[in-house]
Amino acid sequence: MEKRDSDEGDWGLLRDEIRSCRLCRERFGFEPNPIVWGSADSKIMQISQAPSKSVHETGIPFHDLSGQKLRREWYEITDEEFYDVHNFYIVSVGHCYPGKNASGGDRMPPALCAKTWLDREVGLVNNEIYLLVGGAAAKFFFPNRGFTGLVFENLTLRGKPAYVLPHPSPLNIKWFRDNPDFLKYRIREIRRVIHQVLNLPR
Ligand code: SF4
Repeated sequence: MEKRDSDEGDWGLLRDEIRSCRLCRERFGFEPNPIVWGSADSKIMQISQAPSKSVHETGIPFHDLSGQKLRREWYEITDEEFYDVHNFYIVSVGHCYPGKNASGGDRMPPALCAKTWLDREVGLVNNEIYLLVGGAAAKFFFPNRGFTGLVFENLTLRGKPAYVLPHPSPLNIKWFRDNPDFLKYRIREIRRVIHQVLNLPR
């Protein structure tokens, strides 16, 4: 699968810097693998929490059950459309898999990652809309707002439309039980915007 396409300009230099980053090697206790997928002209910038272990190993973002649900059931797009670097810039507030915590869950991403890299990416990528997937991404951009309220609101981020989605993880059961309107109504509105931006004849 091809993931390098737009190599030009400041964004290409930034991408190479991010891929070389090893700032968290000691903190993680293993070799970091920063994941950057997209191009300077990606139409949609999707920002989530951090890569999973399988993404760390494959280097392909959302290459897991959560990713299948996100693109096939929620976005209703093909894998080829999702992984087309002119369509999606796929990134996280933490660019690397952060390892496990004492209770066996994934650690939270280190705060220095978004401060070091994400602000610069947001400034260089010429996207049309933002999709913020999960609480960590929503909190980074909207620190004073409750998560559920953000999901049901059409937002603006740096002058562009922005939409917050819950994480599609199969473990995220309670939120979906408490908020059935997301799958009934809200995801349809967000899907319609995604298809419009990607010019998909659905
Ligand atoms: S998580 Fe971010 S800051 Fe830490 S090593 Fe990976 S890219 Fe660098």
